[in-house]
Order: sequence, then structure tokens, then C-alpha cells
Amino acid sequence: MKILVINCGSSSLKYQLIDMDNESVLAKGLCERIGIEGSKLTHQPAGKDKYVIENPMPTHKTAIEMVMAALQDPEHGVIKDTSEISAIGHRVLHGGTVYSDSIVVNEDVKRVIRECFDLGPLHNPANLMGIEACEAAMPGTPNVAVFDTAFGMSMPEKAYTYAIPHEYYEKYGIRRYGFHGTSHKFVSAEAIRFGGLDPETAKVIVCHLGNGASVSASIGGKCVDTSMGLTPLEGLIMGTRSGDVDPAVLQFIMNKEGLDINQMLDILNKKSGVYGMTNGISSDFRDIENAKADGNHLAEVALDAFIYRVTKYIGAYAAAMNGVDAIAFTAGVGENDKTGRKNICSSLAFMGVEIDDEANNVRGEERVISSPNSKVKVMLIPTNEELAIARETLALV
Ligand code: ADP
Repeated sequence: MKILVINCGSSSLKYQLIDMDNESVLAKGLCERIGIEGSKLTHQPAGKDKYVIENPMPTHKTAIEMVMAALQDPEHGVIKDTSEISAIGHRVLHGGTVYSDSIVVNEDVKRVIRECFDLGPLHNPANLMGIEACEAAMPGTPNVAVFDTAFGMSMPEKAYTYAIPHEYYEKYGIRRYGFHGTSHKFVSAEAIRFGGLDPETAKVIVCHLGNGASVSASIGGKCVDTSMGLTPLEGLIMGTRSGDVDPAVLQFIMNKEGLDINQMLDILNKKSGVYGMTNGISSDFRDIENAKADGNHLAEVALDAFIYRVTKYIGAYAAAMNGVDAIAFTAGVGENDKTGRKNICSSLAFMGVEIDDEANNVRGEERVISSPNSKVKVMLIPTNEELAIARETLALV
């Protein structure tokens, strides 16, 4: 059975066609600059050369049509007919308080995605466009919505409630939702399986450290807390996002600089994080590491602060769960940066965390990186959000 996974951004569309019989990727690709001049599709069939088409893509509908054509292309394609695609799994950013699981799309689901435009203003409209484009291109083929917020829906009230007047929750659903849910769910389940932990009771902390970064705490695979909030801005220091800040900082800067709230949030989302802390060296952690190696003080502080905040969240979540059986690192930084993992774990020695330097000398490979004596199993678990979406889709169709 072949499943197409679609991840729509406001001007982009990523896709993977996965053969679920052996979970292999048949083709993947990216449409860029949808609705903007200079759109292009980069299509990568497995085992063949990359194929780039530069063609206007005024809408996501045109993008989907081009993807379908590329998948069926006599030379670069991997299927003869779209009827070979059994279902389409869509990454959807926000399901509000309605969806705590993936669901086959019908008119009700589309209505809820639309009602959550406020909560995910950049992503939800694009996600819905992707769904509707697939409905038009492949009538009758089921579409499944896999929500980034679904994993966080099992958080208890004490974890998701903001200490602000309750009427805002009642009127507008203002609460903590959490994001990267597909990754946290996949990695925590994989940590339990790979680490041989009890699937009912295992206390797992997942550190998803990429350009966007978040930590989650789960018991028996159910999320009990996670660091992102109403939006992905809360929590860790990220590539360009500030993570936690005193909200009064906003008012202070806005008054001094004459900014409105949209400009201020743009700064917190796109110009802060390690990028802002280093006066714009880069949002890419490798560049920050290189700058630190060249003696740049701001880069050193940014990396130290990033690691420090991850460590604080792990400590907080271990306390929140009254213990932790496993800590799993994932995503670009988590999977590749052995020094970061080592530095985080060395501050957790008080909890009996002990890293094995040799085992930790690894990139992107599923592995236990703690020593046999460590009281907490530390693991590197590569995330695979597309495969997770495809599995969720398969389970529903
Ligand atoms: P996202 O999906 O949020 O864009 P990724 O999970 O792809 O992020 O992670 C991208 C980040 O991973 C980049 O900032 C990149 O610098 C970082 N990264 C990749 N390799 C390394 C490495 N060897 N050391 C440190 N960071 C790395």
C-alpha cells in the first residue's frame, strides 16, 4: 500500500510517497514559492536523479497537480497512476481542543481546521488548501489529518492552563497546546520499544532539538507536559524564536522602539533565538558552533543558554513526573550534536544520568548513549515525522 504524505506551509509543500509494505520512501520533494514569482518543484525519486521543474504555481492546487504529474512522469515518476495511492496523510498544525488524535477528513474536520485559523494563522489555511487540492486531484482517495497539537491534548489541566483570567480559555481556547506532537509521539514510543521500557508506565522525556525545539514529558506514551504553548513560541531557545520571556519585555521594547504587537511578535518568532542573541550570525546551530570556535563571545553565550534551558526543562519534567526512566534526543541538533548532549547530561548527574562517551560518539542512529550504570536510559532516537504521519494514516484507512 502506498501513502502520500503532504506537509503544506504558507508558500511551500513537502511530500513523500511511502511504500508501507516495507516503509521505504519511493519519492520525495518540495514545491517552493507557491503564490510567489519563481516557483519550482524539486522531485527526488529514490535511486534516480533529482528533477527540478520551474513553473508558475499560483496556488497549492497547482502545486499538487505538479506533484501528481511528477509522480507519474514516464521518466522520473514512481507510479503509473494515482489510483496506486491508497491514502494521503496531511500534517495539520492546529486541531484546537477538538482533536486528540488523527482523523479521516470529512466536512466536519475541515470546518474545525478552518475554525482554528486564528490559532495557526500561517499553517492551518495552507493545510486546508493542501487537503482540498488533494480532494480535487484524487476524488475518492481518503485524506487523513495528523495534528501537531494532538499529542499535547492528554496534558492535565494543571499543565495546560495559563495563570490568566479563565474567561480567555472559555471564550477563545487560550491554553497550552504544544507542537511537534507527531515527532514527540513517535520518538517516545520508539524510546519505550527500543529501550525495553514498560509501555504502560514508562516516564520519558523527549528533547526535539532542531531549528524549532521543544521538550515533552510523557507517561506510558501519553503527554503530560510539553514546552511549547498556545503557539510554538514558548519554551526553549530556538534558531530564531525566543522561547520563554517575561511578557513585560514586549511592552518595554514596543514603547522604546515604537513597534506594534505584530512587529514585536515577528521579532520574537523570526529574529530572536540564537540568531538574535548573536546579533544575526545565523539561525543554524552549526554556524553558531563555528563562531564560538572562532572565539565569538555571543555565540558561546547563545549555545550555553540553549543547553542551560534544555537542562532546566528536563529537570522540571523529571520533578513533574516524580522520576524519569528515559531521556531521548532527536531532530537536527539532538541527533548530531554530541557535545550538546554531553553537556546537558553532565548537569543531570545528580539524577544518576551517566553518559557513555563512546556510545555518544554517534550521529543520527538509534542508540542507547548512557552507560550501563546510568539510572536513566539516555537514547538517540532519530525522528521521522513523515513516516509517523504515514503510519497514522495507514492505521485509519
Ligand atoms: P527543523 O526541522 O526545525 O528545521 P532540523 O531538525 O532539521 O530543524 O534541525 C536543523 C538544525 O540542526 C540546524 O540548526 C542545524 O544546524 C542543526 N544541526 C545539524 N547538524 C548539526 C551538528 N552536527 N551539530 C549541531 N547542530 C547541527
